[in-house]
Amino acid sequence: MSGTAPDGGLYVPEELPRFDPAALTQIDTISDLAAQLLAPFFEASTLKDQLAEICDEAFSFPARLELLENSERGSLSVLELFHGPTAAFKDFGARFLAACMTRIIGTPDRDSVPVTVLVATSGDTGGAVAAAFHRQPGVRVVVLFPDGRVTARQQQQLTCWGDNIISLAVRGGFDDCQRLAKEMFADGELVQRYRLCSANSINVGRLLPQSVYYAQASLANYRRNSRPSSFVIPTGNLGNAFAGIWAKQMGLPIDQIILATNANRTIPDFLGSGEWQPRASIPTLASAMDVGDPSNMERLLNLWGDAAEIGRRLRALSVSDETIAQQIAAEHARSGFAWCPHTATAFNVYRTLADEERSESHFIIIATAHAAKFESIVEPLIGEAIEPPDELARLLKWPARFETIDAVTDEITSRLS
Ligand SMILES: *Cc1c(COP(=O)(O)O)cnc(C)c1O
Repeated sequence: MSGTAPDGGLYVPEELPRFDPAALTQIDTISDLAAQLLAPFFEASTLKDQLAEICDEAFSFPARLELLENSERGSLSVLELFHGPTAAFKDFGARFLAACMTRIIGTPDRDSVPVTVLVATSGDTGGAVAAAFHRQPGVRVVVLFPDGRVTARQQQQLTCWGDNIISLAVRGGFDDCQRLAKEMFADGELVQRYRLCSANSINVGRLLPQSVYYAQASLANYRRNSRPSSFVIPTGNLGNAFAGIWAKQMGLPIDQIILATNANRTIPDFLGSGEWQPRASIPTLASAMDVGDPSNMERLLNLWGDAAEIGRRLRALSVSDETIAQQIAAEHARSGFAWCPHTATAFNVYRTLADEERSESHFIIIATAHAAKFESIVEPLIGEAIEPPDELARLLKWPARFETIDAVTDEITSRLS
């Protein structure tokens, strides 16, 4: 329930279970696979007996693996993680976390203070968390998003809920939103008074379920051709990629993990120089990755020790806005598919790999969001309209409600009764 440990650090598993891929290939559905993979983490939990039910609730939509190219120059699939209610991969983690939290909270007393889920978002997390907790009794959600740095459709998904969801546009960037959340979680008195809980990607309850789709995709490939898969992952706060790293550490058939960042170069620079230099975020076309101080780096250092060791196991490449735009147009011309700007960073990184490297393993690009969420960027580049998926289309019709605040915690607490 608490995102950060009492000393301000992040929780990590003491040890990771190891699985034998051959023993997992018989499992058909993603929710059954989730229940199996996550069981060791729930052994001492009061939720142990409800894990299967939690997985059914959270994994109620597919992570679709589509084979895109298969030739001597490499075989490539795309793992589409945008078939959930808010059309981005954040739905997996948010729905799993909500399914766990609502069971822990149980049926609230009429007079009890609601649990307050505080979530800082660069655009997609907030919508996914709001959707997952909307109208759940005993819980309210405060969504902090950077004013003017999300697309119109993202903003609609952050602000269309009402009821138990409070949406606040913060004057500043995502880093300011994240700092506000951290400040509040560090204040024991506030945490107690408002029963604050985190739903950010720092929460283990979001990372663990995300490791499941890496497992499912790599197993599907393994079943087909006995080869491990390599992943190219659009990366911002390093939550999604970290879930992939955990899946690999748990013994799933995963070869390389390559991170694609936008012009926010903190991670590639760290791997290049060995020096960790967090900085202010730069606004880019792939705004959900505009992170200058990726929180989950702490977990990576905990896992592998130092930059040299991390650099031996991971690569990270930065993609400029100009290249993102070109890549969106180029991929559309090549295949007819429209990808979101985040997914396009991963396509670009894949396309710049050497031929020998591409033919060494089967590559899977992680498609993090539906292009329709970023229509103002993508449509002019491809010269076509992108139809929003049904659930997104439905949310776009609801009235929006939010307030704009300065980046200070008083502005938040004054809105909580
Ligand atoms: C959140 C998000 C990312 C970045 O994921 P991290 O876990 O923060 O690295 C990439 N693309 C989209 C569409 C996102 O919503």
